[in-house]
Amino acid sequence: MKYRHLRNATALLTYGEHRLLVDPMLADAGALPGFKFGAGRRPNPLVPLPADAPAWLDAATGVLVTHEHPDHLDGAALRWIRARGLPVWCSHVDAASLRRKGLDVREVHGGALGLDVEVIPARHGRGWLAWLMGPVSGYYLAHPDEPSVYLTSDAVLADAVFEAIDRLRPDVVVAPAGAADMGVGRILFSVDELVALVRRAPGRVVLNHLEALDHCPTTRAGLRERLRAEGLLARVDVPEDGEELHLARTDDRPRPAPASAPARAPACRSGSPRTSPRLDPPRVCPGLRRRLTARLDRTRLNTRCLLRHMYGSYDSCQRRAAAPPTPTAAPTSNCDSEANTCMRGESMQRGGACEHPAECGEGPCIDGNCAIIPGRAARDPPHASSIADATAGFRPRPASARTGDR
Ligand SMILES: [Zn+2]
Repeated sequence: MKYRHLRNATALLTYGEHRLLVDPMLADAGALPGFKFGAGRRPNPLVPLPADAPAWLDAATGVLVTHEHPDHLDGAALRWIRARGLPVWCSHVDAASLRRKGLDVREVHGGALGLDVEVIPARHGRGWLAWLMGPVSGYYLAHPDEPSVYLTSDAVLADAVFEAIDRLRPDVVVAPAGAADMGVGRILFSVDELVALVRRAPGRVVLNHLEALDHCPTTRAGLRERLRAEGLLARVDVPEDGEELHLARTDDRPRPAPASAPARAPACRSGSPRTSPRLDPPRVCPGLRRRLTARLDRTRLNTRCLLRHMYGSYDSCQRRAAAPPTPTAAPTSNCDSEANTCMRGESMQRGGACEHPAECGEGPCIDGNCAIIPGRAARDPPHASSIADATAGFRPRPASARTGDR
């Protein structure tokens, strides 16, 4: 396995016979808006791609997308992929949206790419931020001649991350380390959470998503220093842009079988098609969209993100109003589908609730179209302690303090 780190989360992963371009953000430096609200906002990306990037990009045989945020799939990358007709691998959450963008989409499921694979949903923030950021798909890949790898993608530390590591024992974990914060809350692992992640990982850890975006304050030097102080640096790679890591399988022990991929999101009861939470284009007339964009531009907000989530992101299920929060109410789903799956992959009936609100209750469900909604604060989060125990410096707020999250 070769991992050529290009910039942020963009990498060329040489894995078996594949050369997968992971989460391509190919824009020139400064071509994207700032992602941070308020002080410190600067045009992104902060740095250009390495000078040799075009040659490495040309070697790609396919693209692997974890989610559609612009730092993982931007307009320049879309044009680049379409021009080459490369297959784009993604989870079912993003498949419909990417097809509408003219891409040759292949859904990641068991056996995809000729590998043992598993889609591992990630939480891209906590509380209402997780809802706003939408679903993210981490991937576990295992080739018989390569080290198994778990790409967490953009995530904060949740039990699902530890569960995947404990169950799959990946030889390599690739995780984002920028501790991104748009000014309204952190949406990636904190450094403390990364320390916990590295301690839990059985093998090497590759940390990316650094020094390329305005909302990622962590530096490579600071991160290395902390990991050295923790005695963990020997197992961690923090590659520079353009650096290539060579990682080999070190044992022949049998590997645990990945869980089968989550089922396709069910259709709504009403029969309306269930769509990606990151629909594009929005269901807003072009004139209105232009006016909204102009207005939001004047307020210096991140128009792309806001428009996606406010006006085009959610289908009729998602937009269906949730009941107002009541501290004593049981958690319910605002989805109208017959059955759904929570973040931990367990069945969640319509109107029901999963059994681990600490992990699932604040974020989108696995299909990205549902969210557990108010009432969760009335329940004790049964999994919070395991995260807290493993995470120096991070403690989930008590349940009573989360009542007003959204
Ligand atoms: Zn990102």
